[in-house]
Amino acid sequence: MSTVTREMYDQFMTPNYSPAKIIPVRGEGSRVWDQDERCYIDFAGGIAVTALGHGHPAVVGALKRQADSLWHLSNVFTNEPALELARIMCEATFAERVYFANSGGEVNEAAFKLARRFAYDRHGGEKHEIIAFNDAFHGRTLFTVSVGGQPKYTEGFGPLPGGITHLPLNDIEALRAAVSKQTCAVVVEPIQGEGGIRSCTREFLQAARTLCDEHDALLVFDEVQCGMGRTGSLFAYQHFGVTPDILTSAKALGCGFPVGAMLTTAQVAASLKVGTHGSTYGGNPLACSVAAAVFGVINTPEVLDGVAPRRRRIVDGLERINGKFPMFAEVRGEGLLIGWALADDYRGRAREVLNAALDEGLFVLVAGPDVVRLAPSLIVPEADIDEALERLERAVAAVYGAD
Ligand SMILES: *Cc1c(COP(=O)(O)O)cnc(C)c1O
Repeated sequence: MSTVTREMYDQFMTPNYSPAKIIPVRGEGSRVWDQDERCYIDFAGGIAVTALGHGHPAVVGALKRQADSLWHLSNVFTNEPALELARIMCEATFAERVYFANSGGEVNEAAFKLARRFAYDRHGGEKHEIIAFNDAFHGRTLFTVSVGGQPKYTEGFGPLPGGITHLPLNDIEALRAAVSKQTCAVVVEPIQGEGGIRSCTREFLQAARTLCDEHDALLVFDEVQCGMGRTGSLFAYQHFGVTPDILTSAKALGCGFPVGAMLTTAQVAASLKVGTHGSTYGGNPLACSVAAAVFGVINTPEVLDGVAPRRRRIVDGLERINGKFPMFAEVRGEGLLIGWALADDYRGRAREVLNAALDEGLFVLVAGPDVVRLAPSLIVPEADIDEALERLERAVAAVYGAD
């Protein structure tokens, strides 16, 4: 019997989260067990993080090997795992230079600072405006939360950093009207995650690319959630066929070990001169050896080509469930980042579905009050998909029947 209980959360921890009643203690593949040995299927993936499931042998092996040799140096020294990870990320993408940090918020902070500094170096301080989008999510530091487009997350934290404009997503005319010589960057999630699983159109991303080129502004893709194989391409920019100047990656990059990477060109990177930015832990050997192992597994045809058939199997199942219990209006997202948006009559009830799924032994996520979000492992077995769909059907039936 464990002496650690869920009540201790309220007793000892800050109340900014509202964790589930159960405490998971062990995971393997797409399955997780709680303190009472009850088994759950994990379609939440630690919020689109554990892209190779729990305890993948290549990833665990990398961590254990590195733990036995060298954990930490700081950036007074470089280290072999960081250099190796930077090299493989450059070889697989548009990038020529990589900056490492420990989370999505931190690499976005670096990206936004770099965009400002790059514009400053070429044009002076007037060119500082960042254009971002309503409902976007870029992290919780004061700068990243301000570039994010959800006012509830900045309320009460002012004064906020200035020079940030928010526009509706996928509105090419609004973007054309807003980009000016003062714009230093356009920042966008190719697929908005927290904001409700909304994909950018290819035309919109292409227009953003063109407008940035015309105004000497940088195009920044936040791929913290939609990158690293989620779409079936290594990064979403490759899926959409539009190349940014800066790309940020985290979440699935470490499959649960905290790490983030900012990718960019040599020309843009040149503005991060010695001393302009940094992090004590960023690029530490443990994180980088784990990420290199993750990268090596995800960036293979076996994993990337497995995303589309898994999506099809899941979407077919969702449509079957909705045929019996018609609560949902549409399936959104790309690859294995799936948003199931409630119909108008059921708006606001995504969390009820999440709770009912938990009762049935299935982890799912929400993306706002109206969207059930699924972010399973990219290598989830067919049998686990089928069982997850059975559990989800019982959960949806329970919410449907509660009326
Ligand atoms: C989760 C997320 C972040 C923030 O990442 P943290 O690791 O929580 O700081 C930033 N951008 C997007 C798109 C995300 O989904």
